[in-house]
Amino acid sequence: MNDLLKKAYSAEGFKKDARLIADMVAEQFAAAQSGKQEKAIEYKAPEQELKIWEDDFNDKNPITIEELAGKIFDNTLSFHNRGYMGHQVSVTMPVTALTAEIIAYLSHSTTVYELGMAGNAMEKVVITHMAEKYGYEKGATGVVTSGGSLGNLTALVTARTSSGISEDDYGNLAIMTSVESHYSVSRAASIMGIKSDNIIFVPSDDDFKVRTDLLEPLYQEAVNAGKKVFCVVGCACTTAVGAYDDLEAIADFAERHDIWFHVDGAHGAAAIFSEKYKGFLKGVERSDSIVVDFHKMMMVPALSTAVIYNAGKRKINEKVPNAKYLWQDQRSLEWYNSAKHTMECTKPATIIHTYAIMRLYGDKIYEEYVDTLYDLGIEFGKMIEETPDMELAFKPCTNIVCFRYVPENGKDINEVNRKIADELLKDGTFYIVNTTVRDKFYLRVSLMNPMTDKETLEELLDKIKRLAGAV
Ligand SMILES: *Cc1c(COP(=O)(O)O)cnc(C)c1O
Repeated sequence: MNDLLKKAYSAEGFKKDARLIADMVAEQFAAAQSGKQEKAIEYKAPEQELKIWEDDFNDKNPITIEELAGKIFDNTLSFHNRGYMGHQVSVTMPVTALTAEIIAYLSHSTTVYELGMAGNAMEKVVITHMAEKYGYEKGATGVVTSGGSLGNLTALVTARTSSGISEDDYGNLAIMTSVESHYSVSRAASIMGIKSDNIIFVPSDDDFKVRTDLLEPLYQEAVNAGKKVFCVVGCACTTAVGAYDDLEAIADFAERHDIWFHVDGAHGAAAIFSEKYKGFLKGVERSDSIVVDFHKMMMVPALSTAVIYNAGKRKINEKVPNAKYLWQDQRSLEWYNSAKHTMECTKPATIIHTYAIMRLYGDKIYEEYVDTLYDLGIEFGKMIEETPDMELAFKPCTNIVCFRYVPENGKDINEVNRKIADELLKDGTFYIVNTTVRDKFYLRVSLMNPMTDKETLEELLDKIKRLAGAV
């Protein structure tokens, strides 16, 4: 071996580095948890951040992995800080930093059975377990894929293939989804070549749920215009405010017309593990497919998503790739050889994270997680209602809360809240985000960190009031 290769593949060298980095990650976590780490984010403008990494990249002095890791930690957001309440990305369970090491080292791919034997089998075990939770019929199948966006696309492609609609009619295909649905649903439809006019956005009610009373008239209108509606999508829950659609009513509609019912549960489908909150998913057992992000409410590092198919309507997969170098039989649909079922060819065995969590802690851990964070979101909603100069966009029923500061008369409310958002980011004690709900600007939190508590939220509200006084 050449010298550099010899160094890079030195077992002794790796042993030393591995211990150093493991300690460093553990110390980062301890500092975040104990509150010793004061800020969730040390914000730098993109150009400033770019300069740091350009300078580093061009530095001719050698660097150790330990030094590099330290620099990465110093220049990024800390999700494990209790002030982190931004987007819906999971605050990873520490043990997944260890499963990540195993996944990266093995780099097993579930593409072809032999490349990822454990991963292929674990996917089937976990998917079967989850399908049971959702009340799917025996024989339910599914895959693990890279994210909810790709998951939605995968499910919609399968829905189209299973619809039996002839390719000659693909130009007339239409899909129905809530105006509140995640952009990846309509984007998936666009990628599939569905015309913009055939992506039927169903309006939502005051509670941000899809207007199920409009499904029938909008469907009839589409059919009269020669459109072929093959799928309806339900939100569980919506991304912006965390509202669950009435899945029972959507199921009634889908069954009446024998169209595919897909549930986008990227964020909220984990509620199935909670006795307290699983009622939100009533009717899910009648859906044909569901997407669940393990990297949102199931504490796993990005990306890892389950696409689960009920046993009923799924006729066949999307076209199985004709790849003689991978497998000889194109037609068989065995559960292993996952590339026959996914968009990816090479695909890491991210299922190892979820499998490990289920095996180490059981489903109970998800119940505790969902209950803790949904309870806290509802509690935060009450705190805002009780604060005279604050208001909610929507009374929260999950861990997603949209709210805003209401300034004294004369000040532009959107402008004031935009400034508060900017100042909060500069301050860095908390990391929250914002959104526009029905043309109004709101501050938005997703409570993803089980270390965040009521006291943290009181501090956040105090800080917002102080900042509001200053802007
Ligand atoms: C986050 C989200 C998605 C997209 O999932 P990614 O894993 O980010 O691709 C889709 N639908 C909903 C409802 C989401 O909240």
